[in-house]
Amino acid sequence: MRITAVQGDITEQDVDAVVNAANSALLGGGGVDGAIHRRGGADILEACKKLRAGDYPDGLPVGQAVATTAGKLPARWVIHTVGPTYAASEDRSELLASCFRESLKVADTLGARTLAFPAISTGVYRYPLDEAADIAVRAVHDTATDVDVVRFVLFDNGSYEAFNTAIRRHE
Ligand code: ADP
Repeated sequence: MRITAVQGDITEQDVDAVVNAANSALLGGGGVDGAIHRRGGADILEACKKLRAGDYPDGLPVGQAVATTAGKLPARWVIHTVGPTYAASEDRSELLASCFRESLKVADTLGARTLAFPAISTGVYRYPLDEAADIAVRAVHDTATDVDVVRFVLFDNGSYEAFNTAIRRHE
């Protein structure tokens, strides 16, 4: 598997599936979630509402992942996952790692071979960047999967640097 980092907008990625840093409600939000729903169009929200009416009446639990259509995005699927909010008093790294493992598992079920991840939990959920980058790269690295390309798509330069450093450390 090839793990890369690029600075850019995840909604523009030409990959089989893009991962959304969603919240449990699955009904959209700010940050990368807002961008995906805005650019992907109403079909994504419709699909999320169906998930809420079906398998996830109480929302998607932290650390789990589920796929919908990608609507008008270049990707075929959006894989929604819910990162943990950061807490200094409690180690939530397993929950963050689970987001990456579970997203890869969903990608395998779909037959997706190329996958783009954002910097899950590092925005509104306040996870320290270097720590989150390390957890993300390690989790992807350690997961057995048929996905051949994992691209971390980072919005800002600081995130890009942090993920690049983490990737080099795990080579
Ligand atoms: P969380 O709630 O999991 O912390 P956020 O969406 O608040 O998620 O932030 C996660 C990261 O995604 C932040 O680094 C933010 O700058 C970045 N981000 C926001 N919009 C986009 C986008 N369109 N493409 C890629 N990354 C984005």
